[in-house]
Amino acid sequence: MRGLKTTAPRGAAKQSRGARNEHKQRLSRDCSPIDNLLSRLEKVKETGPGRWIACCPAHDDRTPSLTIRETDDGTVLLKCWAGCGAADVVQAVGLELQDLFPPRLDHRTPLRRGERWVPKDVLACIVGEAVVALIAVEACRRGEVLSEDDTARLATAAGRLRAAAREIGCHV
Ligand SMILES: [Zn+2]
Repeated sequence: MRGLKTTAPRGAAKQSRGARNEHKQRLSRDCSPIDNLLSRLEKVKETGPGRWIACCPAHDDRTPSLTIRETDDGTVLLKCWAGCGAADVVQAVGLELQDLFPPRLDHRTPLRRGERWVPKDVLACIVGEAVVALIAVEACRRGEVLSEDDTARLATAAGRLRAAAREIGCHV
């Protein structure tokens, strides 16, 4: 995410890269993306089922202007009403965009021979990958340059969408 880095990271990001990765791996096993994020934000208040508001860590926010939503598959969606991008918000608390997604989307267990995805899984995958694309578009609109890692993640998204299409017999 080097190319997207515009805000000085704090918290976990101050640790060495090795320690940080170890820290993240432990977090991703022990807690969901939403718990991981909310624990790093201030003035968090639940506004409804799967919805929260908190102070945005990416700008000087006195009255909470960051809305947070957890989708059914565990993906976290963010919106700062002052205009900060999702990448800036997560970097300000020492996380990366990929930390907004449930681990199973990134580390899906390979299907056994003859086993097929159910439609719900395919739809969940499509929604998750569309959010990845949306976040990248958001960064590009602000004039940021996507890093090699981000570009590779977009390629992965395209590959997963193609795989999802194949599941229903659509060969693109
Ligand atoms: Zn903000």
